[in-house]
Amino acid sequence: MPADALLPPAREVTARTIQVRPKTEGWQQAKDADGRPLLQFASPKRGKPPVHLADLTAEQRRARLVELGLPAFRAGQLARHYFTRYTSDPAEMTDLPAAGREELVAGLLPELMTEVRRFATDRGDTIKFLWKLHDGALVESVLMRYPGRITLCVSSQAGCGMNCPFCATGQAGLTRNMSAAEIVDQVVRANRVIAEGALGGKKAASGSTGSRTTPERVSNIVFMGMGEPLANYNRLMTALRTMVAPAPEGLGMSARHITVSTVGLVPAIKKLAEEKIPVTFALSLHAPDDHLRDELIPVNSRWKVDEALDAARAYFDATGRRVSIEYALIKDMNDHGWRADLLAEKLNARGHGWVHVNPIPLNPTPGSVWTSSTVEAQQEFVRRLEAAGIPTTIRDTRGKEIDGACGQLAAVEA
Ligand code: SAH
Repeated sequence: MPADALLPPAREVTARTIQVRPKTEGWQQAKDADGRPLLQFASPKRGKPPVHLADLTAEQRRARLVELGLPAFRAGQLARHYFTRYTSDPAEMTDLPAAGREELVAGLLPELMTEVRRFATDRGDTIKFLWKLHDGALVESVLMRYPGRITLCVSSQAGCGMNCPFCATGQAGLTRNMSAAEIVDQVVRANRVIAEGALGGKKAASGSTGSRTTPERVSNIVFMGMGEPLANYNRLMTALRTMVAPAPEGLGMSARHITVSTVGLVPAIKKLAEEKIPVTFALSLHAPDDHLRDELIPVNSRWKVDEALDAARAYFDATGRRVSIEYALIKDMNDHGWRADLLAEKLNARGHGWVHVNPIPLNPTPGSVWTSSTVEAQQEFVRRLEAAGIPTTIRDTRGKEIDGACGQLAAVEA
């Protein structure tokens, strides 16, 4: 790389511009044979997780029971228990005949993950779960109550192969893809925790008309936990279909309340746009110029800033859903005023009203010397974007105290 590769464009160079380069301290970034940051797209082979009804369509669930020599029509009852009562416990399924109940449950609702630890903060309004999968792989999810909604941040892979130097999940590489049911089970388990009253904060007020209070549950899902969802595309899609399928076949959630966040796998973004499940789409950009993004987001070696932005715009065209650009603000690395201007320029060049920007002050990760931008730099960054007509909201960083915020999920049994 040329020595000036990280300098801002000539028009912007001033004596006061400080440019910190992305480099790691305290840990070694895995490299490929050419000395570039290693990208892992293929999931290492491990024992497959047990097949679960959340991996299957309604039709396949019935077929599976037949295969096991069990009555097909029970599939619907099992789905109802799982998706509406959040239970996989045969003892709670009293509508099923006691004889054969255990077999039915073992056949379609095998245990997928055990809770290892639970960390709470924000007076119980934020809970991070550490889960152990059947093969010992560890993943995390984070449950957050906000006024008017409950959001679950889910993992799509154990570890991550995208190797972004500022994200804790990438440091250990990719352990394996999660199955569709393992992805969905995080939501079901969170719903059970909410039903048990374990999430802090206000419970839904009973209706003034005296109508029955709707039980609370996860209303929003963000794929911003461990993993790169679009690198686990088929299982992601199966999980999304189950999440939006009406109860009792699925969770009956609204696609617009589900956000898929990606580092920018362009061919997969194009595919996602064609799926007719208009989820909210978020692109982790973090730099508007290839000079910096090449080092900050290793996958930029495959798909450049402009290609990723074109794909994001095409996603809006196909779905009508306004897309989010995520931008972790890192002190003196990507938070320069000229970068805000360049970002606005690139977004406006692709039209108006199709995008908004979500800056996230960097959360600390082990072994990293970088820090979050100063409040002044954050405000200036937002001001410049807004002056250019780009709607911009700084994301609040929930769960920092429990290493549960963006980029902090490392899933270690400490
Ligand atoms: N792999 C996906 C989703 C997981 S990360 C993706 O990259 O989009 C979710 C978001 O958190 C991404 O925007 C990611 O870039 C951001 N992030 C990662 N590390 C962070 C950190 N240390 N501080 C703030 N945000 C971070």
